[in-house]
Amino acid sequence: MDIETLVPMNASTATGRGAVELAGIVKRYADGTLAVDGINLRIASGTYCCLLGPSGCGKTTMLRMIAGHETPSDGEILIDGGNVVGLSPRERGTAMMFQSYALFPHLNVRDNVAFTLRVRGIGKAERYREADRVIEQVQLTELAQRLPAQLSGGQQQRVALARAIITRPRVLLLDEPLSALDEFLRLQMRSELRELQRQLGITFIHVTHTQLEAVAVADQVVVMDRGHVVQSDPARTVYAEPRSAYVARFMGGQNVLAGKLESVADGLATLRDAAGRGFALRVGGAVRATGQRLQFSVRRDHVRIAKLAGATVPPLNAVVGLVRAVEYQGTFVKVTLTLDAAAAEDDPFVAYVEEGDYFAGPIGIADRAVAWWEMDEMHALAAE
Ligand code: ATP
Repeated sequence: MDIETLVPMNASTATGRGAVELAGIVKRYADGTLAVDGINLRIASGTYCCLLGPSGCGKTTMLRMIAGHETPSDGEILIDGGNVVGLSPRERGTAMMFQSYALFPHLNVRDNVAFTLRVRGIGKAERYREADRVIEQVQLTELAQRLPAQLSGGQQQRVALARAIITRPRVLLLDEPLSALDEFLRLQMRSELRELQRQLGITFIHVTHTQLEAVAVADQVVVMDRGHVVQSDPARTVYAEPRSAYVARFMGGQNVLAGKLESVADGLATLRDAAGRGFALRVGGAVRATGQRLQFSVRRDHVRIAKLAGATVPPLNAVVGLVRAVEYQGTFVKVTLTLDAAAAEDDPFVAYVEEGDYFAGPIGIADRAVAWWEMDEMHALAAE
């Protein structure tokens, strides 16, 4: 058998490679745990998609169902338009790269990579030719004769990647691929993954619980919460326009505030919170009733802050509080305030102050400070 018959190059694999659609996917494990609760999701072919969410939200279960290592309790998984539920990973054209790279310690790089094709009955010359091709793609040609123990963590990961892509999958599934690497290698490998995905032009679905990893590599970020998808959007949208307070808090970089609607007219709403602070923001066309509670977010790097002494507090879109932490972060300074009249469950308010601005008028711990922002920096959040 040769590689072309092993991997049927039908119309969908040759052109639209790896469009994935989940329709009403449910996964209930034998012990009754509902890990995935009715997910509908589309991932266009050639997309770098990250499934992101806290531990236990169902990311790995989703990935394993797409890979064919787990069967959904209900729903359909379509790859390039065909339902693949019940098909083996090989039949569905998926490959998975695992958290632990699962390399054979007694086989060198070349044999590790060629092994998958050996199992599939591909002749020796053909499998080594393919192995050499993918080893070159992951830039390991010079190390092809080494054993896994003679490689660094990053190099071992590249071997695992080569092993996954040698079957020419339509969809490559990566389960926390960078978690075993140190910080420096992680940054390097994540851009290599992104580059490899561009070169191969296939769909990557990458599970992570690290927000910055997801926004750095992904075209599409899918945020999950307790078996549900709560937002699926381009990376920048998820970060800058979170749908809900959960997404805003999970992605970070935002302050989440709330108040009761006092008036809504021409898409402009005024709110007042329990401490008497007033806010005004645009709410678009959504119908809202006065008295209703509305949450909104303001980016930490889009607020201004000054010592209260001598400053005028704007009547709207401003908060006053006590500085409880100041952390230098290199390009900016993180100033954390406990707001006046804060309840125990309220988030602290955080301003990221550009380094030059901070040192032009430093604010210290225990100072009273006012933070304010422009109305256009406010983003109304959907009720959860
Ligand atoms: P993590 O980031 O910790 O890996 P995750 O988001 O990938 O978490 P899953 O591994 O998909 O989450 O688990 C989702 C839920 O399903 C959890 O409550 C988990 O305990 C449960 N679960 C996972 N595998 C099984 C299983 N084989 N049997 C029963 N429950 C399971």
